[in-house]
Amino acid sequence: MTGAPETIPLFRRFPSLAGRVPHVALVRRPTPVQRFEIGGAETWVKRDDLSAEPYGGNKVRKLEFLLAEALAQGATETVTFGAAGSNHALATAVYARSLGLRPISLLAPQPNAAYVRRNLLAQLAVGADVRLFHDGESRERAAVRLLREREAETGRRPFVVAMGGSSPLGTLGFVDAALELAEQIEAGELPLPDLLYVPLGSMGTAAGLILGLRVAGLPTRVVAVRVTPLEWADEAKLAALVAETAKLLRAAGAELAEVPALAWEVRHDLFGEEYARFTSAGMAGVEAARTAGMHLEGTYTGKTMAALLADARSGALGGSGTLFWDTYSSRDLGFLTAAADWRDLPEGCRAYFTEPLQELDS
Ligand SMILES: *Cc1c(COP(=O)(O)O)cnc(C)c1O
Repeated sequence: MTGAPETIPLFRRFPSLAGRVPHVALVRRPTPVQRFEIGGAETWVKRDDLSAEPYGGNKVRKLEFLLAEALAQGATETVTFGAAGSNHALATAVYARSLGLRPISLLAPQPNAAYVRRNLLAQLAVGADVRLFHDGESRERAAVRLLREREAETGRRPFVVAMGGSSPLGTLGFVDAALELAEQIEAGELPLPDLLYVPLGSMGTAAGLILGLRVAGLPTRVVAVRVTPLEWADEAKLAALVAETAKLLRAAGAELAEVPALAWEVRHDLFGEEYARFTSAGMAGVEAARTAGMHLEGTYTGKTMAALLADARSGALGGSGTLFWDTYSSRDLGFLTAAADWRDLPEGCRAYFTEPLQELDS
């Protein structure tokens, strides 16, 4: 799983970073790019659903930097946060384990869905220590409580992996991803896209792509489709994460000209009622993608595809290329979940297996 010399695009672009920024290879790069027909428009997809084995999706790119930092700090455990069905908590558990770290996931309630059950079982199967927030407890308080508990027990604090992996360090994973895309464009694998559609959750994916496209000198405009509440994601927070990540790069020795006027927008109209509550537009996005051979879901990628479809219909896509960044792992987790028993989960998690799924989940 670990490649010999680290020749990722980020280190090729900024050689001074290699050795100064911790990195462990988890991603199979480059992820493929493919053309597909959807909504009558010519569109391309960046297949980050295949980013890694045994679990892909967007979080693995961030974890290459975050888990390398955990190892560099001599941590023996990680703790991270998310909703009950968090893809991020699962990815962290899978790859922390593979690097010899003991993962703890601190989870919050969310609308029920089949993927929540699958992700909880998969976390159990890889040996994650799955816990729930206490009722009414803030993330900050829960984190402090847990860090103290673990320090008392093991003598060390666990390494804290930011929510969604979206610290500036984790965001470097998507600066690297944008440089990877630039190499593919340069090699003629796909045309230069005018627009790049990506979900906006904890924001690291969009922020890294926005910054990385500027570093690569590409004029592609990022359409970040908000799928989390405004308290997590908005224009000001996204701009701040882009700026902090640029600062981290400079502090690590990268020569980076002023980031020019940022070419991006946040779309707010596909969010729906709440995080992880599926919408009919989002599920139509999932269905349209299915006929084009893609496996999307209702929390992130379906809503993002719905934005692309709406823009295709209204003629806003224009003539040249559009790129959809597929952030959702399409790897089959059956080999993990088959042997896991939901009755082994902590009490609050078991309700997801006994209570009905939300209405739009089929
Ligand atoms: C976490 C996640 C996102 C959102 O990415 P952020 O970097 O948190 O904005 C998008 N798609 C999927 C499938 C995810 O799991």
